[in-house]
Amino acid sequence: MDDTQFGTRDKRGNWTPNEPLVHAPLFSLPPKPLALLKWLPQYFLPWNLIWAASAAAWWVWVVPKKATMQSLDWGWVLWLFAINCIAVALFYGAFEVHLYIRRAQGSRFKYNAKWPSEHKSSAFMFGSQNIDSLIRGFGTGVPIWTAWEVLVLWAWANDIGPWVSLMDHPLYLFALWLLLPVIHEFHFFCIHRLIHMPFLYKWVHSVHHNSVNPSPWSSLSMHPVEHLLYFATAAYHFIIPSHPLLAIYQLHFAGFGAVVGHIGFDKLEVTEDSAVDSHAFAHYLHHKYFEVNYGDGLIPLDRWFGTWHDGTKAGDAAMNARYQKTKAKANAKA
Ligand SMILES: [Zn+2]
Ligand SMILES: [Zn+2]
Repeated sequence: MDDTQFGTRDKRGNWTPNEPLVHAPLFSLPPKPLALLKWLPQYFLPWNLIWAASAAAWWVWVVPKKATMQSLDWGWVLWLFAINCIAVALFYGAFEVHLYIRRAQGSRFKYNAKWPSEHKSSAFMFGSQNIDSLIRGFGTGVPIWTAWEVLVLWAWANDIGPWVSLMDHPLYLFALWLLLPVIHEFHFFCIHRLIHMPFLYKWVHSVHHNSVNPSPWSSLSMHPVEHLLYFATAAYHFIIPSHPLLAIYQLHFAGFGAVVGHIGFDKLEVTEDSAVDSHAFAHYLHHKYFEVNYGDGLIPLDRWFGTWHDGTKAGDAAMNARYQKTKAKANAKA
């Protein structure tokens, strides 16, 4: 595909989409029903449906019998961990191999002209963004993800929490499924804003931001404290009446969904003239500029708090004006 029809490439080779980033029209005031209808397909396709399918597959083929999960036993816990490791390796790995090793679509739709593997940095273990990300992802990311999954399933098996059954409340659970990405966005914004506070940023979140030019493996390249907070998105199912299938969906949304935000490409080419949107631009800008786009734009939280960057020159100007203001305030205090 010709990516210059959709964006512009600067002298350094960095590509920017022509269209400014916009928030999902979910919370528009006054409501925009037409825009909402037009936007709905991209709410589901393809990503949310993929996580729904993967959660269903886990529920049918991976999650052990209820009676087994009533006691915490290494057998089923390690089974879940092994399956999660294999799934992450295959899913993240597929994007890594296709886009970054085989470079199947070259630099088309790639935001940053540089390839992380070609740039060693002392910020990373062994100087390599990929090795560092793999160690953190499989070392603490997947274990903590699995720990939340085990907690949810063990609690459900022992009737701890406000669980409802699929048979008795199918419509309610379907409505909750539609709402879960919004809940995750709220959760992610809150914990993300929190770990950008100077003390926590220095000790926790700076690990994730070492990847200024993120690639698929960067998705779970986090400090264990961030893994713990990030996957706490499953804890909402201890507050809201829910079903473990939906808790698994939310964990997949967070765990597998993270790769989509760090993919580094705006579109993934499927055929010669068709492509799938990654929706990675908002989070790419966060990795580039640090203090913008704490959320992904499903809820306009960044706009409400003045930290939204839409990827345009006007977005740059608004961000710089905000930095100057913060600097002036700090200087005045000093
Ligand atoms: Zn990130
Ligand atoms: Zn951040």
